Parts: sequence; C-alpha cells; structure tokens
Amino acid sequence: MNYHTQMEAARKGIITKELAAVAKEENLVPEELRQLVAKGEVAIPCNVNHVALKPKGIGKALKTKINVNLGTSKDLVSLDSEVAKVKAAEEMGADAIMDLSTYGDTQSFRKRLSQECGAVLGTVPIYDALVYYNKALKDITAKEWLAVAEMHGQDGIDFLTIHAGLNRANAEKFKARRGRLTNVVSRGGSLMFAWMEMTGEENPFYEYFDELLEICRRYDITLSLGDALRPGSLHDATDGMQIEELITLGDLTKRAWEKDVQVIIEGPGHMPMDQIEANMKIQESLCHGAPFYVLGPLVTDVAPGYDHITAAIGGALAAWKGASFLCYVTPAEHLRLPDVDDVKEGIVASKIAAHAADLAKGLQGARSWDDAMSKARQEVNWEQMFALALDPVKARSYHESAPPEVENTCSMCGNMCAMKNMNDILNGKEVWIGGENR
Ligand code: SF4
Repeated sequence: MNYHTQMEAARKGIITKELAAVAKEENLVPEELRQLVAKGEVAIPCNVNHVALKPKGIGKALKTKINVNLGTSKDLVSLDSEVAKVKAAEEMGADAIMDLSTYGDTQSFRKRLSQECGAVLGTVPIYDALVYYNKALKDITAKEWLAVAEMHGQDGIDFLTIHAGLNRANAEKFKARRGRLTNVVSRGGSLMFAWMEMTGEENPFYEYFDELLEICRRYDITLSLGDALRPGSLHDATDGMQIEELITLGDLTKRAWEKDVQVIIEGPGHMPMDQIEANMKIQESLCHGAPFYVLGPLVTDVAPGYDHITAAIGGALAAWKGASFLCYVTPAEHLRLPDVDDVKEGIVASKIAAHAADLAKGLQGARSWDDAMSKARQEVNWEQMFALALDPVKARSYHESAPPEVENTCSMCGNMCAMKNMNDILNGKEVWIGGENR
C-alpha cells in the first residue's frame, strides 16, 4: 500500500475499497467523496486492524450517523451484558460503537469487538489507562498515556477521543474565570484537568501531539478531538471556555491534516435550542469544516429519565444545521449505566433525530422511506407499516395489544378511521358511521 491513511490516499487520488464502499452506500460518485475526504470534510474512520469493519463516512454531505456508548463500570462489570448491548446496537443499525469501559478485562473486550463487530469503533484511552496501569491517576506518566493510545490502535479501534484541547493555558483560564455552574463535566476532561493540577505538567496529548499523530498514521486512527470543556448545563452553554477550547481544537485539526490524519470534532453538551445553529456555524468556521460529532445537545436540564428525548431534540436541530454525527443519549443518562432496553430507546431516539435532520437537509433518497410509510398508512396496510417502522417490534406490539373491532382500522378511531372511510367513499362505497358497525 502506498498510503497510510484514508486521507493520504484521497489526497493522492486513490479510491480505496473503503471509500468505494461508502460512496456506494451514500449514493455518491466516488470521485466526489474522494475530494471531501481529501479536504477533511468527510472522515472514514478505518483502523487497519479492525477486520470486521463495515466502513462508514462521517460528514455533513452524507447521511447523519449515530454512535452508541457502552462499556463496563466498577459497579456493573459484566462483559456478557456489554456484548448483549453490542448485538442490540448492531441489530438496530448503530453506525458506531464507543467502548467506554472503565473496569475489568477491557483489552479482551476491545479485541473481540474489532474481530466481530462491523460498526465503527471508538474509545477514550484516558479511561483505559487507569484500568491498564492500575495505579493512582497522578502516577501515570505522559509516555504511559500515549502508550495506551498506541495499544488501542493495535487493538483495531477506528477513532480515539483525545482531550488535547484542555491544555495548561486553557486550564489556567478556566481557573481564573470560574463562572460555571457545572465546571468540567467531561469525564476524560476532568481526569486530565486533575492530572495536570497534581503533576504540574502539560497535557501529554497536547505536548506530544506529533507523536500521537505518528501513532494515528500507523493504524489509520481518526482523531476525535474531545470537548473537555463542553457545557454541562444550559447556564454554561457557549461560554468563553467552550470557545477557547474550540479554537485550540481548530489549530490541532490543521496539524493533524498536515500529517494526513483524519479528524472529527466533539461538541456540546447541554445547550438551549436558540444557540444550536450558531454553535454549528462557529465550529465549522473555527475547525475548518471538520465533521462535528455532538453529544446531544440536551436542550433542557430538567428531564432525567427522558434525556434521550432532550438529546434527540437538540441532535435533530444540530444535524440539520451542520453536525454529522450524533452520540446517542439513553433514558439512563445522569442516573446509572444503561441496560439493554435503555440502549434500544437511546438508539431509536437518536435515529429519529438523524433521519429528521436528513429530511430537513433534503438529502437524496431520505424522503422515500417516509413516503412509503405514508402510502402504507393510506392503504391501511399494517404489515407494510410494521416492516417500514424504525422499531417494527414496538409498532406491532402496540397495534396488537388493543385489537380493533372494525377490520382494517385500529382502536384509535375504529369505524371513524379516516383512511378506511376515505378509501371507501372515493371508491364509490358507502361509509357506515354511527349505528351498528359493519
Ligand atoms: S383508525 Fe385512526 S389512527 Fe387507526 S389507522 Fe385509521 S385513521 Fe389511523
């Protein structure tokens, strides 16, 4: 191979087999996609060691993609339940899976994922360093942080969340300002902040960014530049620290692209709806058109138990106005580790947001799904409605849980079924409403 990364290949004019597969899935001419990858406006995360990968493209010219977070914690360490979540996520059409495990045999799980899982894989090496070295945070050395990133590359992870934007300069500004309600809510960001405070050292991912880029080139890892300073509450949205970090991420994006390393940028967070569009524009400008991966945004802070909905509202708006990649949020957000049912609810909410955005963007082919569903509704064709439903199992079980008295209707309107009655009357039949059902 005369290239190291998908970006390098694209810049050399090479249509890789991964790029060709993505172009086919997106109904794009490969040459058109190649130019977007060469410019950095589309990323195809694609570790050379991820043997099971079915490649996906991430960029606003493409279908909006969704990511599913899962992984063990110290309180819930069962790998079997995490494998069940992976299976559910794949069955329900997750484009990417981030393994955020913080306890147990994380490397075996990661290797199993790269051998068996077709979804794009992401991790946060900061979490895993604490598992791998099994020592106090402050005792982990700069080189050890980088070594874990390399290990994840060897294990076949396609994109790594790296919190390089929270450098010492931004940490000092953060301490000087102290105007936030919720400080640093990024788990990786808070760990790195604490490490810098306790050691007095620079963020190793920032200080040794060039070495990190060499690791990325070796395995074709895409950098997901983490938003350590993302707002964790509406109060903190679009504050100075969020923007300061974004400026740093924009600078790092250019350095990565100089080495042909693909980049996506992580974004908010919690944010009122009226600020979302402006945030998409600011990111696009400061980060030079790199794909935007948003963690929500959650449009209100007051709905624990329903944050898959608050995130889907924000995600739909964000993807309509520029984001390319939505991180799902489950009903368990802010409350506990999600179970399989939470994962399913989160995926459905996120897929609705992604598809709604693709419709609003006028993406080629997006509307045909909706039109087919509407036709099935007009024909009162239940099997077709179930087949087309985003969650066919739930749609069928709801319908069958309350069978209608009148055939070819549902228990919502019964013999007043507008669909059936309009079909009958337009076909010259009589419509019986009131009196006995027929
Ligand atoms: S009964 Fe009402 S809700 Fe049910 S299919 Fe007919 S029009 Fe739709």
